[in-house]
Amino acid sequence: MQKADLLLAGAIDMHAHGYPQFTLNMPGRQNNFEWARAAKEADMAGFVMKSHIWPTVGEAFLLDQMVEEMRIFGSITLNYPVGGLNPFAVQTAAESGAKVVFMPTWCSKNDIGKGAHYVTRMRPYVTAVDDAMKGVEGLTVLGDDGCIIPEVHSIIDLCKQYEMVLASGHISIEESLSLCKAATAKGVKFVLTHPLSSPLIAATLDQIKAVAEMGGFIENVFIGCMPMHEGLKPKRIVEVIEYVGAEHCTMSSDAIEGWNPPPPEVLRMFIASMLALGVSDDDVYQMTHTNPGHLLGV
Ligand SMILES: [Zn+2]
Repeated sequence: MQKADLLLAGAIDMHAHGYPQFTLNMPGRQNNFEWARAAKEADMAGFVMKSHIWPTVGEAFLLDQMVEEMRIFGSITLNYPVGGLNPFAVQTAAESGAKVVFMPTWCSKNDIGKGAHYVTRMRPYVTAVDDAMKGVEGLTVLGDDGCIIPEVHSIIDLCKQYEMVLASGHISIEESLSLCKAATAKGVKFVLTHPLSSPLIAATLDQIKAVAEMGGFIENVFIGCMPMHEGLKPKRIVEVIEYVGAEHCTMSSDAIEGWNPPPPEVLRMFIASMLALGVSDDDVYQMTHTNPGHLLGV
C-alpha cells in the first residue's frame, strides 16, 4: 500500500458531488451510494455531500445509516431552487442535519458576471434554465452600501446556532473577505471555497492569506487540476499551502462530471500529488483529517 492510500484512510472529503447532480441525464461517475461504498473501501472516515441544486440532507441521512463506519453529512447550497439567501431554507436544512451551508454558486452575481459557466453546463440538461435566468443579476451577500445584507446575517446566526460550517461557494473574493470577517467575528467556522478557480474566484495569495488570518479555512479542490476542468498546475496549490500554512487548509475532490475518476480516487490523486511535490505527511494529514474533523465537529 502506498503512502497516499494510507493517508486517504480516515480522511474526510468536505466537497463531494454525487449523481444525479443537475439531472439524471448529466453523466456522473458514481451515484452517492457508490460514492459511499468506494469511500468505505478506501477506509475514508466520511464526506460532505454537495449539490448545486437541492439540499442533500435526505440522502445524507439515509446513506449515513446504510453505510456503516462512514459519516456522511448533508449540506445546502443557497441557489434559486431553495430561494437563494433564504434563512428559512437554511434552518430547515439545519433541523434535518445539514453541516455545511454553501453560499450561492451558479446563481451568484459573481458567477453570472464572469460568464455564467454553470448555466452553460446546465443548459444541455434543463431547457428552462435560460428563461429562469433571463435578466437575473444574481445573488450577492453585500448590499449597495457594501455591507453584509440582513438575510446573510441571519444565515450566519443560524450557522452559529446549529454549529454549521459556512462556505463561500462562488461569491467573489471581495465578498468572501467581508463574509469571513462577519462569520468569524461571531465564532462561525468559515471556508473559502476553491480560491484558485479562475476566472471565477482567482484570489491572490495575499487575499487567501487574509481569510486565513481572520480564522477562515482555505479549501483546495483537485477538480481544478483535471484536464477537462481548468488544468490547474498542482504546484499552484502547493504555493497556497506554503503561503498560508497547512493548519489553515483543507483538501477536497469537488469532482462532478463523469470524465473524472471516482471521487475517492480523485482525493487519493490529490494526496499523492501533494506528497510528490514535497508537502509533508503531517501537513497532508492536517488538511485531510484534522481540519475537516474540526470543521464538522467530529
Ligand atoms: Zn462543487
